[in-house]
Amino acid sequence: MKDLYQPGAFAAKETVTLVGPRSRVISNLRILGPCRDLNQVELAFTDSVALGFDIPVRQSGNIPATPGCMLMGPNGFFEMDEGVIRAAPHVHMAPADAAFYGVEPGDYMKLRVGGEVGVTFDRIFVRVDPHFKLEVHIDTDEANACGLNAHSPVELIK
Ligand SMILES: [Zn+2]
Repeated sequence: MKDLYQPGAFAAKETVTLVGPRSRVISNLRILGPCRDLNQVELAFTDSVALGFDIPVRQSGNIPATPGCMLMGPNGFFEMDEGVIRAAPHVHMAPADAAFYGVEPGDYMKLRVGGEVGVTFDRIFVRVDPHFKLEVHIDTDEANACGLNAHSPVELIK
């Protein structure tokens, strides 16, 4: 459907329906690529509660001992034994950005969001890769909590 800001990452046209505990479902979950060697579903906290999940906050890719789910698509069902997480807030950056901010991979930074409902997030995990472009990833719950929009003033703080 469209390229994402990180080079090579994309949102596919295709979506799936997730079937959670007690057969509650959430539809139109967007598939993101490129493919990895593991399957992972990232849910916002509100969605996970509505579905009856008790999911941990995890860094992407760290899925051992997380809940599984059933995914339903146009060609059938796919059962995941694990991989449903609430993605930990994080920032992607290139080595030059890390040098600019004076941070190392695995550090935590703060993200100050201004506006009428200003919030400062204290645990933005730093991910560094030469291919990354500077971008913070938070989920819809976190964005809604601080009224984030395209005009919100934001500041990354060491
Ligand atoms: Zn990310």
